[in-house]
Amino acid sequence: MPLLVNIRNLEKESARLEGELPVADFAPDFKDELLRFVEPLSYELEVDRQGTELTVVGKLWTELECDCGRCLQTYRQELLVDEFAALVPLEGEDAVVVKDDFADLTPYLREDTFLALPTNPLCTPDCRGLVPKAPDRDLRPGDGASDGPAAGVSPWDALKKLKL
Ligand SMILES: [Zn+2]
Repeated sequence: MPLLVNIRNLEKESARLEGELPVADFAPDFKDELLRFVEPLSYELEVDRQGTELTVVGKLWTELECDCGRCLQTYRQELLVDEFAALVPLEGEDAVVVKDDFADLTPYLREDTFLALPTNPLCTPDCRGLVPKAPDRDLRPGDGASDGPAAGVSPWDALKKLKL
């Protein structure tokens, strides 16, 4: 479920929203070499409507699984957006998606969460990186050494097989 707020009710009074957004809803396509979302995004928000605009303020938090950029160790780190604030237009080009009086706030939460991601994750601020180790001598010669049928096959033979 995305995070929806009833904009009709907001004409009367502001709304307080608390809960969790599953990773599949707020970051379904997120891909990063060093970072992964592993917990739902928690939110505590106050939503206020002023005419054709919503103001959303509050905080967001979750936990990340990170790979240290220096030593590659995996560790967990809290991600906190302490002063989340968004102006959500109900009309115009950038208007929020509204369906049956419900506005979807998910994209706004997603944007600020992504902006708060660490750009250079380190397990500790003074991580010294990988300890150099001896080169791996475990390669077995001989494996995959058979010349196989590739020998004697010219690129032209391969081309001839292609029916154009
Ligand atoms: Zn490290």
